[in-house]
Amino acid sequence: MCQVDDEGISVLEKKPSLGVNPRDCMKCGEKAVVIARIKDPFCRSCFLNYFTHRFRATFGKAKVIRDGDKVLLAFSGGQCSSAMVSLVKRGLDQSTHKKLRFIPALIYIDEGLVTGQSKEDRATTCQRISHMMRETGFPWFIATLEEALGIPAQTTVQMKSPDACQAGASFHGNQDLSADELAGKLEEICLETDCTQECKDLLASVTSLTAKQDLVSNLRHRLLIHKARQLGYHKVAVGDSGTRLSSGILSSLAKGKGAAIPVAMAFVDDRCSDVTFLRPMREFTSKEIAVYNALFNVDSLFQPTLSTMAGEYASIDTLTETFVNDLQTNFPSTVSTVFRTGEKMCSAESDDPEAVKRCSLCMSVLDTAVGKSSALHATRFSLQLSRKEHSSTGDNSCKSVSLNDATCTSSSSRQCCGQGDGSCHSNQKKSVSAESLNETLCYGCQVTVREVRDLNQLPHYVLEQCAKMERRSRMRDEIKDFLLCEES
Ligand SMILES: [Zn+2]
Ligand SMILES: [Zn+2]
Repeated sequence: MCQVDDEGISVLEKKPSLGVNPRDCMKCGEKAVVIARIKDPFCRSCFLNYFTHRFRATFGKAKVIRDGDKVLLAFSGGQCSSAMVSLVKRGLDQSTHKKLRFIPALIYIDEGLVTGQSKEDRATTCQRISHMMRETGFPWFIATLEEALGIPAQTTVQMKSPDACQAGASFHGNQDLSADELAGKLEEICLETDCTQECKDLLASVTSLTAKQDLVSNLRHRLLIHKARQLGYHKVAVGDSGTRLSSGILSSLAKGKGAAIPVAMAFVDDRCSDVTFLRPMREFTSKEIAVYNALFNVDSLFQPTLSTMAGEYASIDTLTETFVNDLQTNFPSTVSTVFRTGEKMCSAESDDPEAVKRCSLCMSVLDTAVGKSSALHATRFSLQLSRKEHSSTGDNSCKSVSLNDATCTSSSSRQCCGQGDGSCHSNQKKSVSAESLNETLCYGCQVTVREVRDLNQLPHYVLEQCAKMERRSRMRDEIKDFLLCEES
């Protein structure tokens, strides 16, 4: 109940005091130290039980991990992934019937180039992270984001043993090294390579923060898949909290990526056929995770990202994040409501999962095969009209014109894709038109790529998939007179 004091300020009426602490632990009656979910008071040890049980139950319900499976934990040093690693460690130490039974390893992806850090700063961060990873006792690996630009285009890579892995600049932490040797190695992986410059150019060519954040998260996702394949892991666990996923649902809707929501927030993300992503932290809000870290002394490392200090209106992601967090402050059910609503969403399934076409950038199911009278075609039509207007008035400043009329020539410096079956054209100049590139992208990614000034800066695997599709359609045109029935 509210009342207004003499100065006209609303104050909450004080409830009659029931002693020193009106709230006791709902499980054991001890003094409560934390309120979990919305109104469940817990003491320290009951909170730990509740937290670890919920974490384990998330794995148990999905039944995707078998005993002895190898799982790569994506570790960024942040609050969520640090809590995830701590919970896995606890789970492995548990008594037999509660024990987690998979074999974990950690991978850290250094994204220092995104925020323009110097190679010395990046090496220092890698050192601090490697120290944190070493303490867990699990095998650990470090890679840099720019390696994503050198990922070969083939869709399936033969799984390799870690020893045979040619991971470029990556570093395998399970080597026995002295502190000095380790520091030297970490400095080495932060050295600037061709890929570093290519990645910087790609991000610099994009104007909006929304598109930049999208590109970075796509590159990170693709690099995790690539590293998991190289290192022989079929499962990757990421630390996305319920709070982050909830604002992700709203921002995906705003960006026209509705079709990708079900898979982007599910516990099991099977967009990629041979590497499955798991989200075991999705049942917790970021506040619960922060409380767990504070109560049980879990170390984490704050690192600036693209959106740090950018302000709430800087991108669609920052705006929805602020919106969800502000609502959550006053309405504690916000995250769970958005989250459960998102869970009920599903995209149209194809009858034949093998025939499903996937976006070459984000790997979600292509949502662009829709009828003429659809929002997508209406948007394309109005875009075409505005382009015509711009070209008739001689306005060359319009980026979409230069982008869509241009044909790009892929950089010849890139390495051979290594397929070895004669299909590799990586070292030859090839041209990819924006039109055919759009054919391989979902609507949301088309919007992102529209901002890229020079298409040949896109990752190799995107350009190669587009070139492959162009070759196929050219071949189909050539032989269409000899086909018995026309392929759709
Ligand atoms: Zn208790
Ligand atoms: Zn996409």
